[in-house]
Amino acid sequence: MRRADAMLLLCVAAYGAYAFAAGSSYTLRVFSVAGIYALAAIGYQFIFGQAGALSLSQGVFMGVGAYASGILALRFGLGFDAALPFSVGVPVLLALAVAVPVLHLRTHYFALATLIISQMVLLVAVEWQGLTGGANGIGGIGGITILGMPIRAGWPLAATVWVCVALGAALSAWLMRGRAGHAYAVLREHPAVAGAIGLDGGRMRLAAFVLSAAFAGFAGSLYVHVIRVISPDVLGFPVMVTLLTIVMIGGRLGVAGAVAGAVLVIELPEWFRPLREYTLLVYGAILLLVVVAAPGGLVGALRLLLPDRAPPAPPALAASPALAELSGLAALSGASGLLLEIDGLARHFGGVRALGGVSLGLRAGEVLGLIGPNGSGKTTLVNCVTGLVAPDAGRVRFAGADITGLRADRVAHAGIARTFQTVALVDDMTVLDSVAIARPRTDFATARAQAMTLLDRLGVADIAQRRCGGLAYGLRRRVEIARALALQPRLLLLDEPAAGLNETEQADLSRRLRGLAADGAALLVIEHNMAFLAPLADRMACLDAGVLIAQGTPAEVQGDARVIEAYLGRPAAVSRPA
Ligand code: ADP
Ligand code: MG
Repeated sequence: MRRADAMLLLCVAAYGAYAFAAGSSYTLRVFSVAGIYALAAIGYQFIFGQAGALSLSQGVFMGVGAYASGILALRFGLGFDAALPFSVGVPVLLALAVAVPVLHLRTHYFALATLIISQMVLLVAVEWQGLTGGANGIGGIGGITILGMPIRAGWPLAATVWVCVALGAALSAWLMRGRAGHAYAVLREHPAVAGAIGLDGGRMRLAAFVLSAAFAGFAGSLYVHVIRVISPDVLGFPVMVTLLTIVMIGGRLGVAGAVAGAVLVIELPEWFRPLREYTLLVYGAILLLVVVAAPGGLVGALRLLLPDRAPPAPPALAASPALAELSGLAALSGASGLLLEIDGLARHFGGVRALGGVSLGLRAGEVLGLIGPNGSGKTTLVNCVTGLVAPDAGRVRFAGADITGLRADRVAHAGIARTFQTVALVDDMTVLDSVAIARPRTDFATARAQAMTLLDRLGVADIAQRRCGGLAYGLRRRVEIARALALQPRLLLLDEPAAGLNETEQADLSRRLRGLAADGAALLVIEHNMAFLAPLADRMACLDAGVLIAQGTPAEVQGDARVIEAYLGRPAAVSRPA
């Protein structure tokens, strides 16, 4: 656990000890409610924190769990524990119903959908009087019983709630340890990269949303047996705002943030009674303050103040197997025929023709240089091949299979890796983890050991434990290439890999890329820098306004009249080889 998180949890424990020692039934009841909100907030962190998607239905999931448990208790005499499959299951089903159609959109539609479903649930709760008691709700719900044993109000109840919080926190931390936590970091900070390294973002967001609903339902069922009445208030917006405030103040990531945030937000109004009428207003003001002053919440701010001691040593560099062995490239080198066949690929954006029917082929072991003026469609070509952008027309075949329009993560699994024109690494993640996360089909420890080999291959093994945020540009480029290689690609697409590198770094990169091709990988390299590209490429192709205007050896293409006219001859054109 990080030091800052441990510190926060200690503070909560100290406050808890005080609440138990003081022992007034009111104090313990408030502390129990804080625990219940902590559970719902731990759940909310999955979707809002880890997956980075704004959901506005966490409060309603909690309310639905409360209604399910309360109604089952009153109408069928089911105890808290016997009702759990329903109080957790109903919000989970509701989450699935909302999410399956909209979650892949990853836009404001998702927030909107969660808002609409919340209003609908509220309407049902008010109108379906026979079941829910309508606007008045239902009272007379019993306390918590476990295996038929009633839990007394006061400290036994508070202790039960907080044992549940501890279990929920442990489950959340366990789920997000190792690869999963890193995968969510990539998804939330660089969604395009997530697909490119083979992560199924839609499925990950769905999992996070369902988990958040399950935690909320569980919290709701505790709530109804602690408060013992239920009314549509529990489905109202103030509950959602409270959860949002808790997570913003405590921190969107890290269970310590959810727990500390819940205790703060639920307990504070008790300390400032006269302000209670203005609770929402005060929450709003605090929220604004936090967003501006400490966007990472309490946990984020504390982590900055209390940095962790040096991370554990990286795995030892094994007697390095050849990359070919590691990535299965050897089997392919020397294979005849085209590895990548692009046929008539077209894509428009509104009125802009980004690609107007491009056909290209690439063999294993070959380096193809792709040049062309800015806006000529080079990046769009790579995006269409890698599934980031769907082509309007044309086909892409890879290793004999049609991969046209395939989703990005499936393209990655098929053996195509890429880097991005703008380096896209997670600042807070170490170099080693950034690469290991892309390593498929192994446990994370093995992935990290193999990532060391790749870092060594790119000459950056010595910075394995550094965080990506502080790295010089040239190093970031190399880490990104190592990450792409971790996918075991047979085809590597590099979008302006030498941009921003000095001449020594360029020469070094060029040598390493040639090495990859010698191992049997096919490389497509987009570059403006002819001094870098011409000696590296076996063949070159030039795009202009979405159309291929020349193809051939580097010398042929550089000497082509149309290429000179469209691209090389321009004043901005780049140094030619000496
Ligand atoms: P290059 O990489 O050769 O500089 P791009 O492939 O990035 O060119 O862009 C080709 C054309 O398509 C440009 O006119 C660009 O503005 C347009 N374009 C690319 N991506 C998008 C997008 N997502 N939305 C709208 N227009 C785009
Ligand atoms: Mg580009």
